[in-house]
Amino acid sequence: MQKENEKIAKTHMDYAYELDLVIKPDSRVPLFDREYAAFSGAGVPLFSLGGGYYRYALIDILARFHAKRGYFIAETPIIASSYLYQVSGHIEFFRQNMFLFKIEDHDFAIKPMNCPYHILVFLSHLARFRQKVALPFKIFEAGRVHRYEPSGSLYGLLRVRAFTQDDAHIITPEEKAVESLVSVFEEMKLLMEKLFLMKLDPESITLRLSLSDKEKIGTEFMGTRREWETAEAALEEAAKTLKDKYGFNYFKEEGEAAFYGPKIDVIMRVEESGIEKEWQLGTAQFDFNLPRRFKVYGAVREIYGEETNIFIIHRALMGSLERFLSVYLDYTKGRMPFPLSPVQFAVVAIKIGDPEIDEKIAGLVKRIHKGLLAEGYRTGIVETTKTSLSGDVRRIESTIKPAVTIYVGAREVKEGFVTVRPYIHEKKRRISQKVNIGDNPHLDVINAIKSLEDGVLELAGYSPRIPGDVSHLL
Ligand code: ZN
Repeated sequence: MQKENEKIAKTHMDYAYELDLVIKPDSRVPLFDREYAAFSGAGVPLFSLGGGYYRYALIDILARFHAKRGYFIAETPIIASSYLYQVSGHIEFFRQNMFLFKIEDHDFAIKPMNCPYHILVFLSHLARFRQKVALPFKIFEAGRVHRYEPSGSLYGLLRVRAFTQDDAHIITPEEKAVESLVSVFEEMKLLMEKLFLMKLDPESITLRLSLSDKEKIGTEFMGTRREWETAEAALEEAAKTLKDKYGFNYFKEEGEAAFYGPKIDVIMRVEESGIEKEWQLGTAQFDFNLPRRFKVYGAVREIYGEETNIFIIHRALMGSLERFLSVYLDYTKGRMPFPLSPVQFAVVAIKIGDPEIDEKIAGLVKRIHKGLLAEGYRTGIVETTKTSLSGDVRRIESTIKPAVTIYVGAREVKEGFVTVRPYIHEKKRRISQKVNIGDNPHLDVINAIKSLEDGVLELAGYSPRIPGDVSHLL
């Protein structure tokens, strides 16, 4: 019977291969990207290989972080009536990057940008709750968008056709524009430092202001002179505030703004193998076009009074989650902070060949693993022997890169401790800790590494618990 089952299982697998249903690792895709997603070759990453845990944990943290900062959390559909994108102007100017289709007789589009939907969210709040809606009104969504990109331009997670933006729109009164821009930058700083454990210092960070060419306002740059001048003054004021507060330098590029508004970008210089690269982190972009097309100015004045002037600002802290993941994995050599790591714990049993002691080792390893799982962590078990230990440590710690490794051998069982080795991003290495264990060894382990969750607790008020037995990934 056993044999028979094996034969069937094998046949099914062969069948899947024949039909090309199994996505094999593509060697053209960067190594770290392959560890988080599989690619069907069409620029559509499949986050199944541990990347799924990463995404859920990240989006959970992002939603709570933004909610705490006063953002309204939205969830907008992947498809939309193409009329929405006709009003926004995308059908006219962005058509070559959009997927369009029909349902019965109606024209639909797959969402290429979240902005039009977010404006609808704001307008429907205004229509229903009128003056109760406070300004600035801020909307956040981990918004999934799809864009037509030529196949030649696709590359790993760096350039894909399906991606998720940490997207937000801020509808702010003119007089609060500076405050809103400064707070966007502070959110980005918090996220990079507390969650991604990156250091944003004046040596590596520069702010770029893309401004209009004053001569061309009204022709190449749409909107009124007053709008451009007020928005650009707000951008510069925000940049000055950030320079005073954090020492970050800024520079202005005149004539480089988009036709619909000026913007500010945060650029980080990173050095990789002696090559200096620029990594664009956050963006805040003014938009004078969409509020006109969606008649937002009129709606706002009707509710808040004729003298009310507002701005709509698009902003992202990470940009595309996929692109950010690819650059970040390259930057950290595949090491993910504890709250986001697909494999948070690898519990390693070091067997010695003595059945009685090996049973004790296996028993303790299982208890720790099960306890961590019950507490909501992602954990896996690995078995090794004293002779293959050094090879296995290298394979696990340097190739699979769990956030924390735990070693249990004969000495540990005899003396009542375990060896815990968390990776410390600030130090760029693992630190070994001898942790004495009691009746609940998993709680002693959690206690020993709890500082790894400090940043995310500060950011989001909690650390996500998405448990998983990930032994097969080890
Ligand atoms: Zn937008």
